[in-house]
Amino acid sequence: MYRTHSNGELRATHINEEVTLAGWTQKTRNKGFMIWVDLRDRHGMTQLIFDEERTPKDVMDLASSLGREFVIQVSGTVIERESKNPNMPTGDIEILVKELKVLNESLTPPFTIEDDTDGGEDLRMKYRYLDIRRKPVRDNLIFRHKVTMAVRNYLSAQEFVEVETPYLIKSTPEGARDFVVPSRMNAGQFYALPQSPQTFKQLLMVGGMDKYFQIVKCFRDEDLRADRQPEFTQIDCEMAFVEQEDILNTFEGLTRHLLKELNNVEVGEFPRMTYDEAMHRFGNDKPDIRFGMEFGHLNKVAQHKDFNVFNSAESVIGIAVPGGNNYSRKEIDKLIDWVKRPQVGALGMVYCRCNDDGTYKSSVDKFYDQEDLAKWAEVTGAKAGDLICVLSGDTRKVQAQLSALRMELAERLGLRKPNEFAPLWVIDFPLLEWDEETERYHAMHHPFTSPKPGQMELLKTHPGDVKANAYDLVLNGNEIGGGSIRIHDKEIQAKMFDYLGFSEEEAKAQFGFLMDAFQYGAPPHGGIAFGLDRLVAILGGQETIRDFIAFPKNNAGRDVMIDAPANIDEAQLDELHLKVEISEE
Ligand code: ASP
Repeated sequence: MYRTHSNGELRATHINEEVTLAGWTQKTRNKGFMIWVDLRDRHGMTQLIFDEERTPKDVMDLASSLGREFVIQVSGTVIERESKNPNMPTGDIEILVKELKVLNESLTPPFTIEDDTDGGEDLRMKYRYLDIRRKPVRDNLIFRHKVTMAVRNYLSAQEFVEVETPYLIKSTPEGARDFVVPSRMNAGQFYALPQSPQTFKQLLMVGGMDKYFQIVKCFRDEDLRADRQPEFTQIDCEMAFVEQEDILNTFEGLTRHLLKELNNVEVGEFPRMTYDEAMHRFGNDKPDIRFGMEFGHLNKVAQHKDFNVFNSAESVIGIAVPGGNNYSRKEIDKLIDWVKRPQVGALGMVYCRCNDDGTYKSSVDKFYDQEDLAKWAEVTGAKAGDLICVLSGDTRKVQAQLSALRMELAERLGLRKPNEFAPLWVIDFPLLEWDEETERYHAMHHPFTSPKPGQMELLKTHPGDVKANAYDLVLNGNEIGGGSIRIHDKEIQAKMFDYLGFSEEEAKAQFGFLMDAFQYGAPPHGGIAFGLDRLVAILGGQETIRDFIAFPKNNAGRDVMIDAPANIDEAQLDELHLKVEISEE
Protein backbone atom coordinates (compact mmCIF):
# COMPACT_ATOMS: atom_id res chain seq x y z
CA MET A 1 0.00 0.00 0.00
CA TYR A 2 1.48 3.34 -1.03
CA ARG A 3 -0.37 5.43 1.52
CA THR A 4 -2.85 5.26 4.37
CA HIS A 5 -3.92 8.90 4.13
CA SER A 6 -3.70 11.82 1.74
CA ASN A 7 -1.62 14.86 2.58
CA GLY A 8 -4.64 17.01 3.32
CA GLU A 9 -6.27 14.69 5.77
CA LEU A 10 -4.49 14.43 9.10
CA ARG A 11 -5.65 16.47 12.10
CA ALA A 12 -4.99 16.63 15.84
CA THR A 13 -7.43 13.73 16.28
CA HIS A 14 -4.92 11.48 14.49
CA ILE A 15 -2.11 12.15 16.99
CA ASN A 16 -0.18 8.98 17.91
CA GLU A 17 -1.42 7.07 14.85
CA GLU A 18 1.07 5.30 12.62
CA VAL A 19 0.60 6.46 9.03
CA THR A 20 2.13 6.12 5.58
CA LEU A 21 2.09 9.06 3.19
CA ALA A 22 3.29 9.63 -0.37
CA GLY A 23 3.75 12.74 -2.45
CA TRP A 24 6.14 15.37 -3.73
CA THR A 25 8.68 17.27 -1.65
CA GLN A 26 7.84 20.93 -1.88
CA LYS A 27 10.25 22.49 0.56
CA THR A 28 13.04 21.22 2.83
CA ARG A 29 14.55 23.01 5.81
CA ASN A 30 17.69 21.32 7.03
CA LYS A 31 19.15 22.28 10.41
CA GLY A 32 21.48 19.28 10.48
CA PHE A 33 20.05 17.69 13.59
CA MET A 34 16.52 18.27 12.37
CA ILE A 35 15.02 18.29 8.89
CA TRP A 36 11.55 19.46 7.95
CA VAL A 37 9.96 18.57 4.63
CA ASP A 38 6.64 19.79 3.23
CA LEU A 39 5.00 16.86 1.48
CA ARG A 40 2.40 17.75 -1.17
CA ASP A 41 -0.25 15.95 -3.16
CA ARG A 42 -3.53 17.05 -4.76
CA HIS A 43 -5.26 17.04 -1.39
CA GLY A 44 -2.90 19.28 0.51
CA MET A 45 0.33 19.46 2.39
CA THR A 46 1.67 17.74 5.47
CA GLN A 47 4.83 18.61 7.35
CA LEU A 48 7.34 15.81 7.93
CA ILE A 49 9.98 15.97 10.64
CA PHE A 50 13.21 13.99 10.72
CA ASP A 51 14.91 14.26 14.10
CA GLU A 52 18.45 13.00 14.81
CA GLU A 53 17.37 11.68 18.19
CA ARG A 54 14.25 9.86 17.07
CA THR A 55 14.84 9.05 13.37
CA PRO A 56 17.22 6.21 12.28
CA LYS A 57 20.56 7.49 10.96
CA ASP A 58 20.19 6.06 7.41
CA VAL A 59 16.77 7.70 7.09
CA MET A 60 18.25 10.97 8.35
CA ASP A 61 20.99 10.79 5.71
CA LEU A 62 18.59 10.00 2.92
CA ALA A 63 16.32 12.88 4.01
CA SER A 64 19.16 15.36 3.79
CA SER A 65 19.75 14.32 0.16
CA LEU A 66 16.15 14.99 -0.96
CA GLY A 67 15.78 17.51 -3.76
CA ARG A 68 12.73 19.56 -4.75
CA GLU A 69 9.87 17.58 -6.31
CA PHE A 70 11.24 14.15 -5.41
CA VAL A 71 8.48 11.58 -5.14
CA ILE A 72 8.73 9.92 -1.75
CA GLN A 73 6.92 7.58 0.58
CA VAL A 74 7.25 7.91 4.36
CA SER A 75 5.98 6.04 7.39
CA GLY A 76 5.91 7.44 10.89
CA THR A 77 3.85 8.71 13.78
CA VAL A 78 1.48 11.66 13.80
CA ILE A 79 2.67 14.04 16.53
CA GLU A 80 1.54 17.43 17.77
CA ARG A 81 3.44 20.33 16.26
CA GLU A 82 5.35 22.59 18.56
CA SER A 83 4.61 25.69 16.55
CA LYS A 84 1.22 25.26 14.96
CA ASN A 85 0.27 26.81 11.63
CA PRO A 86 -3.32 28.00 11.73
CA ASN A 87 -3.25 28.76 7.97
CA MET A 88 -2.82 25.10 7.07
CA PRO A 89 -5.60 22.50 7.54
CA THR A 90 -2.93 20.03 8.71
CA GLY A 91 -1.11 22.75 10.66
CA ASP A 92 -1.65 21.21 14.11
CA ILE A 93 0.37 18.08 13.40
CA GLU A 94 3.49 16.75 11.77
CA ILE A 95 4.80 13.28 10.98
CA LEU A 96 7.82 12.01 12.89
CA VAL A 97 9.36 9.90 10.14
CA LYS A 98 10.81 6.44 10.75
CA GLU A 99 10.97 5.11 7.19
CA LEU A 100 11.65 6.93 3.94
CA LYS A 101 11.67 5.61 0.41
CA VAL A 102 12.48 7.64 -2.70
CA LEU A 103 9.98 6.49 -5.34
CA ASN A 104 11.41 8.77 -8.01
CA GLU A 105 13.88 11.58 -8.24
CA SER A 106 13.25 14.87 -10.03
CA LEU A 107 15.32 17.34 -11.93
CA THR A 108 15.25 20.77 -10.35
CA PRO A 109 11.98 22.26 -11.68
CA PRO A 110 12.33 25.33 -13.92
CA PHE A 111 10.14 27.39 -11.57
CA THR A 112 9.06 27.15 -7.97
CA ILE A 113 5.98 25.05 -7.49
CA GLU A 114 4.25 27.17 -4.88
CA ASP A 115 1.13 29.34 -4.79
CA ASP A 116 3.20 32.33 -5.84
CA THR A 117 5.63 31.16 -8.45
CA ASP A 118 8.62 32.83 -10.03
CA GLY A 119 7.74 31.21 -13.39
CA GLY A 120 6.56 33.40 -16.25
CA GLU A 121 3.53 32.45 -18.36
CA ASP A 122 5.56 30.89 -21.20
CA LEU A 123 7.64 28.72 -18.94
CA ARG A 124 4.64 27.55 -17.00
CA MET A 125 2.85 26.62 -20.24
CA LYS A 126 5.84 24.66 -21.49
CA TYR A 127 5.88 22.69 -18.24
CA ARG A 128 2.14 22.75 -17.71
CA TYR A 129 2.26 19.39 -15.85
CA LEU A 130 4.40 21.10 -13.21
CA ASP A 131 2.15 24.15 -13.16
CA ILE A 132 -0.80 21.84 -12.48
CA ARG A 133 0.95 20.75 -9.26
CA ARG A 134 0.49 24.32 -8.01
CA LYS A 135 -2.55 24.80 -5.81
CA PRO A 136 -4.14 27.73 -7.68
CA VAL A 137 -4.08 25.87 -11.00
CA ARG A 138 -5.13 22.58 -9.47
CA ASP A 139 -8.00 24.29 -7.60
CA ASN A 140 -9.25 25.82 -10.86
CA LEU A 141 -9.38 22.40 -12.52
CA ILE A 142 -11.20 20.94 -9.55
CA PHE A 143 -13.61 23.88 -9.67
CA ARG A 144 -14.26 23.19 -13.35
CA HIS A 145 -15.02 19.58 -12.48
CA LYS A 146 -17.55 20.77 -9.88
CA VAL A 147 -19.25 22.99 -12.45
CA THR A 148 -19.57 20.19 -15.01
CA MET A 149 -20.87 17.80 -12.35
CA ALA A 150 -23.47 20.35 -11.27
CA VAL A 151 -24.50 20.84 -14.92
CA ARG A 152 -24.80 17.10 -15.54
CA ASN A 153 -26.75 16.50 -12.36
CA TYR A 154 -29.14 19.36 -12.95
CA LEU A 155 -29.86 18.57 -16.58
CA SER A 156 -30.18 14.82 -15.95
CA ALA A 157 -32.70 15.56 -13.23
CA GLN A 158 -34.65 17.57 -15.83
CA GLU A 159 -34.65 14.50 -18.11
CA PHE A 160 -31.97 15.71 -20.50
CA VAL A 161 -29.92 12.91 -22.04
CA GLU A 162 -26.24 13.40 -22.83
CA VAL A 163 -25.56 12.15 -26.35
CA GLU A 164 -22.19 12.24 -28.10
CA THR A 165 -22.03 13.55 -31.64
CA PRO A 166 -19.15 12.97 -34.06
CA TYR A 167 -16.04 15.11 -34.42
CA LEU A 168 -15.24 14.10 -37.99
CA ILE A 169 -18.05 15.79 -39.89
CA LYS A 170 -18.94 18.19 -42.64
CA SER A 171 -18.88 21.94 -42.12
CA THR A 172 -21.39 23.51 -39.71
CA PRO A 173 -21.49 27.25 -40.20
CA GLU A 174 -21.10 29.21 -36.97
CA GLY A 175 -19.36 32.08 -38.65
CA ALA A 176 -15.77 30.86 -38.41
CA ARG A 177 -13.43 28.85 -40.61
CA ASP A 178 -13.37 25.08 -40.21
CA PHE A 179 -10.43 23.05 -39.09
CA VAL A 180 -10.21 20.22 -41.59
CA VAL A 181 -8.83 16.69 -41.47
CA PRO A 182 -7.65 15.04 -44.69
CA SER A 183 -9.09 11.62 -45.41
CA ARG A 184 -6.48 8.99 -46.28
CA MET A 185 -9.10 6.62 -47.68
CA ASN A 186 -10.76 9.25 -49.85
CA ALA A 187 -8.16 11.07 -51.85
CA GLY A 188 -8.71 14.80 -51.93
CA GLN A 189 -11.56 14.73 -49.42
CA PHE A 190 -11.67 16.25 -45.99
CA TYR A 191 -13.64 16.04 -42.81
CA ALA A 192 -14.36 19.26 -40.96
CA LEU A 193 -14.17 19.42 -37.17
CA PRO A 194 -17.43 20.74 -35.72
CA GLN A 195 -17.70 24.45 -34.97
CA SER A 196 -20.58 23.18 -32.83
CA PRO A 197 -22.84 20.10 -32.91
CA GLN A 198 -25.64 22.32 -34.26
CA THR A 199 -26.97 20.14 -37.09
CA PHE A 200 -26.55 16.92 -35.12
CA LYS A 201 -28.52 18.18 -32.17
CA GLN A 202 -31.30 19.22 -34.51
CA LEU A 203 -31.23 15.73 -36.05
CA LEU A 204 -31.49 14.30 -32.52
CA MET A 205 -34.72 16.26 -32.16
CA VAL A 206 -35.99 14.77 -35.43
CA GLY A 207 -34.89 11.46 -33.90
CA GLY A 208 -37.21 12.08 -30.96
CA MET A 209 -34.59 12.48 -28.21
CA ASP A 210 -36.71 15.34 -26.87
CA LYS A 211 -34.11 16.85 -24.49
CA TYR A 212 -30.43 16.60 -25.35
CA PHE A 213 -27.27 18.01 -23.86
CA GLN A 214 -23.59 17.40 -24.29
CA ILE A 215 -20.44 18.83 -22.76
CA VAL A 216 -18.53 18.95 -25.99
CA LYS A 217 -15.41 20.24 -27.69
CA CYS A 218 -15.92 22.69 -30.57
CA PHE A 219 -13.30 23.88 -33.03
CA ARG A 220 -13.14 27.25 -34.75
CA ASP A 221 -10.30 28.47 -36.89
CA GLU A 222 -10.65 32.15 -36.16
CA ASP A 223 -8.13 34.92 -36.07
CA LEU A 224 -6.75 34.74 -32.59
CA ARG A 225 -7.65 37.31 -30.04
CA ALA A 226 -6.42 37.47 -26.50
CA ASP A 227 -7.97 34.72 -24.46
CA ARG A 228 -9.62 32.86 -27.31
CA GLN A 229 -8.93 29.17 -27.79
CA PRO A 230 -9.16 27.39 -31.17
CA GLU A 231 -10.75 24.47 -29.34
CA PHE A 232 -13.16 25.17 -26.54
CA THR A 233 -15.96 23.49 -24.66
CA GLN A 234 -19.69 24.06 -24.86
CA ILE A 235 -22.58 22.90 -22.77
CA ASP A 236 -24.70 22.24 -25.83
CA CYS A 237 -28.46 21.78 -25.39
CA GLU A 238 -31.57 21.25 -27.50
CA MET A 239 -35.24 20.67 -26.70
CA ALA A 240 -38.23 19.64 -28.80
CA PHE A 241 -41.77 21.03 -28.54
CA VAL A 242 -40.63 24.27 -26.99
CA GLU A 243 -41.04 27.98 -27.48
CA GLN A 244 -38.48 30.61 -26.58
CA GLU A 245 -40.11 31.03 -23.17
CA ASP A 246 -39.52 27.36 -22.29
CA ILE A 247 -35.85 27.58 -23.18
CA LEU A 248 -35.32 30.79 -21.22
CA ASN A 249 -36.98 29.32 -18.14
CA THR A 250 -35.10 26.03 -18.30
CA PHE A 251 -31.67 27.58 -18.66
CA GLU A 252 -32.34 30.39 -16.25
CA GLY A 253 -32.99 27.52 -13.85
CA LEU A 254 -29.66 25.92 -14.69
CA THR A 255 -27.76 29.18 -14.28
CA ARG A 256 -29.46 29.94 -11.00
CA HIS A 257 -28.63 26.43 -9.78
CA LEU A 258 -24.95 26.90 -10.67
CA LEU A 259 -24.74 30.28 -8.94
CA LYS A 260 -26.29 28.75 -5.81
CA GLU A 261 -24.22 25.54 -5.83
CA LEU A 262 -20.86 27.05 -6.67
CA ASN A 263 -21.04 30.61 -5.37
CA ASN A 264 -23.80 30.38 -2.82
CA VAL A 265 -25.44 33.33 -4.51
CA GLU A 266 -29.20 33.58 -4.96
CA VAL A 267 -30.38 35.71 -7.85
CA GLY A 268 -33.95 36.68 -8.61
CA GLU A 269 -35.66 36.48 -11.98
CA PHE A 270 -33.24 37.43 -14.74
CA PRO A 271 -34.07 40.74 -16.38
CA ARG A 272 -34.79 40.60 -20.10
CA MET A 273 -33.72 43.27 -22.50
CA THR A 274 -34.21 43.43 -26.23
CA TYR A 275 -31.15 43.72 -28.41
CA ASP A 276 -32.28 47.21 -29.47
CA GLU A 277 -32.63 48.34 -25.87
CA ALA A 278 -29.22 46.92 -24.91
CA MET A 279 -27.59 48.77 -27.78
CA HIS A 280 -29.43 51.99 -26.92
CA ARG A 281 -28.67 51.94 -23.19
CA PHE A 282 -25.21 50.35 -23.19
CA GLY A 283 -24.02 50.32 -26.80
CA ASN A 284 -23.40 46.62 -26.41
CA ASP A 285 -25.36 43.37 -26.81
CA LYS A 286 -23.72 41.92 -23.70
CA PRO A 287 -24.05 44.74 -21.19
CA ASP A 288 -22.53 44.60 -17.74
CA ILE A 289 -25.44 45.79 -15.61
CA ARG A 290 -23.65 45.62 -12.26
CA PHE A 291 -23.18 49.38 -12.46
CA GLY A 292 -24.86 52.39 -14.09
CA MET A 293 -23.08 54.83 -16.42
CA GLU A 294 -25.84 54.31 -18.96
CA PHE A 295 -25.75 56.10 -22.28
CA GLY A 296 -27.27 59.58 -22.43
CA HIS A 297 -28.42 60.47 -25.95
CA LEU A 298 -27.47 64.06 -26.52
CA ASN A 299 -28.49 64.78 -30.13
CA LYS A 300 -31.44 66.91 -29.07
CA VAL A 301 -29.55 68.97 -26.51
CA ALA A 302 -26.23 69.29 -28.33
CA GLN A 303 -27.02 69.77 -31.99
CA HIS A 304 -28.45 73.29 -31.86
CA LYS A 305 -25.22 75.32 -31.68
CA ASP A 306 -22.32 75.98 -34.03
CA PHE A 307 -20.27 72.98 -32.99
CA ASN A 308 -19.93 71.20 -36.32
CA VAL A 309 -18.40 68.02 -34.97
CA PHE A 310 -21.68 67.33 -33.17
CA ASN A 311 -23.97 68.81 -35.81
CA SER A 312 -22.62 66.56 -38.52
CA ALA A 313 -22.70 63.41 -36.35
CA GLU A 314 -25.36 60.75 -36.59
CA SER A 315 -25.18 60.30 -32.83
CA VAL A 316 -23.87 62.30 -29.89
CA ILE A 317 -23.77 60.12 -26.78
CA GLY A 318 -22.38 60.70 -23.31
CA ILE A 319 -21.82 58.87 -20.04
CA ALA A 320 -21.43 60.24 -16.55
CA VAL A 321 -18.34 58.99 -14.75
CA PRO A 322 -19.02 58.96 -11.02
CA GLY A 323 -16.50 61.12 -9.16
CA GLY A 324 -14.74 61.84 -12.44
CA ASN A 325 -14.40 65.56 -11.76
CA ASN A 326 -11.44 64.54 -9.59
CA TYR A 327 -9.46 63.70 -12.70
CA SER A 328 -6.64 66.11 -13.39
CA ARG A 329 -6.29 67.69 -16.80
CA LYS A 330 -3.47 65.25 -17.45
CA GLU A 331 -5.61 62.26 -16.55
CA ILE A 332 -8.37 63.43 -18.85
CA ASP A 333 -5.84 63.88 -21.66
CA LYS A 334 -4.73 60.30 -21.06
CA LEU A 335 -8.35 59.18 -21.29
CA ILE A 336 -8.68 61.00 -24.60
CA ASP A 337 -5.56 59.20 -25.83
CA TRP A 338 -7.11 55.95 -24.65
CA VAL A 339 -10.25 56.40 -26.78
CA LYS A 340 -8.10 57.41 -29.75
CA ARG A 341 -6.07 54.18 -29.66
CA PRO A 342 -6.68 52.14 -32.81
CA GLN A 343 -8.34 49.38 -30.75
CA VAL A 344 -11.06 51.87 -29.73
CA GLY A 345 -10.85 54.20 -32.68
CA ALA A 346 -12.59 57.42 -31.60
CA LEU A 347 -11.43 60.64 -33.25
CA GLY A 348 -11.61 62.57 -30.02
CA MET A 349 -13.63 63.10 -26.87
CA VAL A 350 -15.55 66.06 -25.53
CA TYR A 351 -15.86 66.30 -21.75
CA CYS A 352 -17.68 68.34 -19.20
CA ARG A 353 -16.75 68.68 -15.54
CA CYS A 354 -19.64 68.86 -13.08
CA ASN A 355 -18.28 71.06 -10.32
CA ASP A 356 -19.34 70.70 -6.70
CA ASP A 357 -20.85 74.21 -6.72
CA GLY A 358 -23.28 73.20 -9.46
CA THR A 359 -21.42 74.90 -12.32
CA TYR A 360 -20.06 73.17 -15.39
CA LYS A 361 -16.77 73.44 -17.24
CA SER A 362 -16.55 71.74 -20.60
CA SER A 363 -13.94 71.37 -23.32
CA VAL A 364 -16.40 73.08 -25.69
CA ASP A 365 -17.38 76.10 -23.58
CA LYS A 366 -17.02 78.21 -26.69
CA PHE A 367 -20.21 76.67 -28.04
CA TYR A 368 -22.25 75.70 -25.01
CA ASP A 369 -23.43 77.75 -22.03
CA GLN A 370 -24.27 76.61 -18.50
CA GLU A 371 -27.88 75.99 -19.39
CA ASP A 372 -26.87 73.69 -22.28
CA LEU A 373 -24.43 71.78 -20.11
CA ALA A 374 -27.03 71.39 -17.36
CA LYS A 375 -29.13 69.56 -19.95
CA TRP A 376 -26.21 67.25 -20.77
CA ALA A 377 -25.98 66.46 -17.07
CA GLU A 378 -29.69 65.78 -16.90
CA VAL A 379 -29.65 63.44 -19.90
CA THR A 380 -26.59 61.47 -18.74
CA GLY A 381 -27.66 61.48 -15.09
CA ALA A 382 -24.46 63.28 -14.04
CA LYS A 383 -24.27 64.70 -10.53
CA ALA A 384 -21.98 67.30 -8.99
CA GLY A 385 -18.50 65.76 -8.82
CA ASP A 386 -18.96 63.67 -11.98
CA LEU A 387 -17.33 63.94 -15.38
CA ILE A 388 -19.37 63.66 -18.57
CA CYS A 389 -17.54 61.98 -21.47
CA VAL A 390 -19.08 62.51 -24.90
CA LEU A 391 -18.33 60.77 -28.21
CA SER A 392 -19.94 61.50 -31.54
CA GLY A 393 -20.11 60.11 -35.06
CA ASP A 394 -21.59 57.11 -36.76
CA THR A 395 -24.08 55.49 -34.35
CA ARG A 396 -22.67 51.94 -34.50
CA LYS A 397 -19.13 53.20 -34.04
CA VAL A 398 -19.98 55.55 -31.18
CA GLN A 399 -21.86 52.75 -29.44
CA ALA A 400 -18.85 50.45 -29.64
CA GLN A 401 -16.35 53.14 -28.63
CA LEU A 402 -18.35 54.51 -25.73
CA SER A 403 -19.15 51.00 -24.53
CA ALA A 404 -15.43 50.23 -24.46
CA LEU A 405 -14.82 53.42 -22.49
CA ARG A 406 -17.64 52.60 -20.07
CA MET A 407 -16.18 49.15 -19.35
CA GLU A 408 -12.64 50.50 -18.99
CA LEU A 409 -13.70 53.21 -16.55
CA ALA A 410 -15.83 50.79 -14.56
CA GLU A 411 -12.83 48.49 -14.28
CA ARG A 412 -10.63 51.36 -13.09
CA LEU A 413 -13.29 52.50 -10.61
CA GLY A 414 -13.60 48.98 -9.18
CA LEU A 415 -17.23 48.69 -10.25
CA ARG A 416 -16.78 45.28 -11.88
CA LYS A 417 -16.79 43.23 -8.70
CA PRO A 418 -15.94 39.56 -9.40
CA ASN A 419 -18.15 38.22 -6.64
CA GLU A 420 -21.24 40.14 -7.69
CA PHE A 421 -23.36 38.41 -10.34
CA ALA A 422 -25.81 40.16 -12.65
CA PRO A 423 -27.22 37.81 -15.30
CA LEU A 424 -29.72 38.92 -17.93
CA TRP A 425 -31.30 37.70 -21.14
CA VAL A 426 -30.81 39.70 -24.29
CA ILE A 427 -33.62 38.77 -26.70
CA ASP A 428 -35.01 39.70 -30.10
CA PHE A 429 -31.70 39.75 -31.92
CA PRO A 430 -31.76 40.78 -35.56
CA LEU A 431 -31.90 37.75 -37.85
CA LEU A 432 -29.32 39.19 -40.22
CA GLU A 433 -26.19 41.24 -39.99
CA TRP A 434 -24.63 43.30 -42.77
CA ASP A 435 -21.13 42.18 -43.65
CA GLU A 436 -18.98 45.03 -45.00
CA GLU A 437 -16.45 42.71 -46.58
CA THR A 438 -18.76 40.54 -48.65
CA GLU A 439 -21.35 43.32 -48.95
CA ARG A 440 -24.24 41.12 -48.09
CA TYR A 441 -26.35 39.96 -45.17
CA HIS A 442 -25.19 37.04 -43.04
CA ALA A 443 -27.14 35.10 -40.43
CA MET A 444 -26.33 36.83 -37.14
CA HIS A 445 -26.67 33.63 -35.11
CA HIS A 446 -26.66 30.83 -37.70
CA PRO A 447 -28.76 29.94 -40.75
CA PHE A 448 -31.01 27.54 -38.80
CA THR A 449 -32.46 30.32 -36.64
CA SER A 450 -36.12 31.12 -37.20
CA PRO A 451 -37.40 34.63 -37.74
CA LYS A 452 -40.06 35.91 -35.36
CA PRO A 453 -43.53 34.84 -36.45
CA GLY A 454 -44.84 36.86 -39.38
CA GLN A 455 -41.51 38.48 -40.21
CA MET A 456 -40.50 36.27 -43.12
CA GLU A 457 -42.14 38.80 -45.47
CA LEU A 458 -39.97 41.67 -44.21
CA LEU A 459 -36.98 39.74 -45.50
CA LYS A 460 -37.57 41.05 -48.99
CA THR A 461 -38.18 44.68 -48.14
CA HIS A 462 -36.33 45.43 -44.88
CA PRO A 463 -33.94 42.54 -44.24
CA GLY A 464 -32.02 44.42 -41.55
CA ASP A 465 -35.21 44.88 -39.50
CA VAL A 466 -36.19 41.22 -39.29
CA LYS A 467 -35.97 39.99 -35.72
CA ALA A 468 -35.07 36.42 -34.81
CA ASN A 469 -36.21 34.04 -32.14
CA ALA A 470 -32.69 34.28 -30.81
CA TYR A 471 -31.39 35.03 -27.33
CA ASP A 472 -28.17 35.36 -25.39
CA LEU A 473 -27.53 34.81 -21.72
CA VAL A 474 -25.23 37.54 -20.46
CA LEU A 475 -23.34 37.49 -17.17
CA ASN A 476 -21.26 40.42 -15.93
CA GLY A 477 -20.58 41.78 -19.40
CA ASN A 478 -19.87 38.41 -21.00
CA GLU A 479 -22.00 36.38 -23.36
CA ILE A 480 -22.06 33.02 -21.62
CA GLY A 481 -24.76 31.38 -23.72
CA GLY A 482 -26.66 31.86 -26.94
CA GLY A 483 -29.29 30.04 -28.89
CA SER A 484 -32.46 30.21 -30.89
CA ILE A 485 -35.71 28.60 -31.88
CA ARG A 486 -34.96 26.76 -35.12
CA ILE A 487 -36.58 26.56 -38.46
CA HIS A 488 -38.18 23.11 -38.70
CA ASP A 489 -39.89 23.51 -42.05
CA LYS A 490 -38.02 22.44 -45.15
CA GLU A 491 -39.47 25.19 -47.36
CA ILE A 492 -38.57 27.97 -44.95
CA GLN A 493 -35.08 26.54 -44.43
CA ALA A 494 -34.60 26.39 -48.21
CA LYS A 495 -35.76 30.01 -48.52
CA MET A 496 -33.32 31.03 -45.83
CA PHE A 497 -30.39 29.34 -47.54
CA ASP A 498 -31.43 31.00 -50.77
CA TYR A 499 -31.64 34.36 -49.08
CA LEU A 500 -28.19 33.91 -47.52
CA GLY A 501 -26.70 33.37 -50.94
CA PHE A 502 -26.43 29.58 -51.12
CA SER A 503 -27.37 28.23 -54.54
CA GLU A 504 -29.77 25.29 -54.48
CA GLU A 505 -26.90 22.92 -55.30
CA GLU A 506 -24.69 24.35 -52.57
CA ALA A 507 -27.45 24.12 -49.99
CA LYS A 508 -28.16 20.55 -51.05
CA ALA A 509 -24.49 19.55 -51.01
CA GLN A 510 -23.87 21.09 -47.60
CA PHE A 511 -27.16 20.64 -45.79
CA GLY A 512 -29.14 18.16 -47.88
CA PHE A 513 -29.17 15.73 -44.96
CA LEU A 514 -30.88 18.29 -42.73
CA MET A 515 -33.46 19.29 -45.34
CA ASP A 516 -34.14 15.61 -46.01
CA ALA A 517 -34.66 15.03 -42.30
CA PHE A 518 -37.09 17.93 -42.13
CA GLN A 519 -39.35 16.00 -44.49
CA TYR A 520 -39.82 13.20 -41.98
CA GLY A 521 -41.71 14.88 -39.19
CA ALA A 522 -39.31 17.39 -37.62
CA PRO A 523 -40.82 18.67 -34.37
CA PRO A 524 -40.65 22.34 -33.44
CA HIS A 525 -37.43 22.72 -31.51
CA GLY A 526 -34.84 25.11 -30.16
CA GLY A 527 -31.82 25.23 -27.95
CA ILE A 528 -28.85 27.02 -26.55
CA ALA A 529 -25.14 26.51 -26.00
CA PHE A 530 -23.08 27.85 -23.11
CA GLY A 531 -19.37 28.53 -23.39
CA LEU A 532 -18.16 26.36 -20.54
CA ASP A 533 -14.64 27.77 -20.29
CA ARG A 534 -15.85 31.35 -19.83
CA LEU A 535 -18.71 30.33 -17.54
CA VAL A 536 -16.30 28.46 -15.25
CA ALA A 537 -13.89 31.39 -15.21
CA ILE A 538 -16.61 33.89 -14.27
CA LEU A 539 -18.09 31.64 -11.58
CA GLY A 540 -14.53 31.21 -10.34
CA GLY A 541 -14.28 34.99 -10.03
CA GLN A 542 -11.77 35.40 -12.86
CA GLU A 543 -11.92 36.33 -16.51
CA THR A 544 -8.99 34.44 -18.04
CA ILE A 545 -10.28 31.19 -19.46
CA ARG A 546 -6.80 29.73 -19.94
CA ASP A 547 -6.48 29.43 -16.18
CA PHE A 548 -9.37 26.97 -16.18
CA ILE A 549 -8.19 24.74 -19.02
CA ALA A 550 -5.76 21.92 -18.21
CA PHE A 551 -3.73 22.19 -21.40
CA PRO A 552 -4.55 25.47 -23.13
CA LYS A 553 -3.08 26.88 -26.32
CA ASN A 554 -1.25 30.20 -26.17
CA ASN A 555 -2.39 33.42 -27.83
CA ALA A 556 -0.85 32.31 -31.11
CA GLY A 557 -2.88 29.10 -31.03
CA ARG A 558 0.12 26.93 -30.19
CA ASP A 559 0.49 24.23 -27.61
CA VAL A 560 4.03 25.07 -26.48
CA MET A 561 4.29 21.97 -24.31
CA ILE A 562 3.83 19.36 -27.03
CA ASP A 563 4.89 21.85 -29.71
CA ALA A 564 1.85 21.76 -31.96
CA PRO A 565 0.99 22.42 -34.71
CA ALA A 566 4.00 20.67 -36.23
CA ASN A 567 5.24 19.41 -39.56
CA ILE A 568 4.48 15.86 -40.62
CA ASP A 569 6.82 13.76 -42.70
CA GLU A 570 6.72 13.25 -46.46
CA ALA A 571 5.41 9.71 -46.22
CA GLN A 572 2.45 10.82 -44.12
CA LEU A 573 1.74 13.67 -46.54
CA ASP A 574 1.80 11.24 -49.46
CA GLU A 575 -0.56 8.86 -47.71
CA LEU A 576 -2.95 11.74 -47.21
CA HIS A 577 -2.61 12.78 -50.83
CA LEU A 578 -1.28 16.15 -49.73
CA LYS A 579 1.45 18.24 -51.14
CA VAL A 580 2.71 21.14 -49.09
CA GLU A 581 4.37 24.11 -50.62
CA ILE A 582 5.30 26.90 -48.32
CA SER A 583 6.08 30.15 -50.03
CA GLU A 584 8.64 32.37 -48.36
CA GLU A 585 7.00 35.69 -47.66
N1 ASP B 1 -24.75 26.25 -32.04
C1 ASP B 1 -24.92 27.53 -31.44
C2 ASP B 1 -23.56 28.12 -31.07
O1 ASP B 1 -22.56 27.43 -31.04
C3 ASP B 1 -25.76 27.50 -30.21
C4 ASP B 1 -27.20 27.22 -30.48
O2 ASP B 1 -27.80 27.85 -31.35
O3 ASP B 1 -27.75 26.39 -29.74
O4 ASP B 1 -23.48 29.30 -30.78
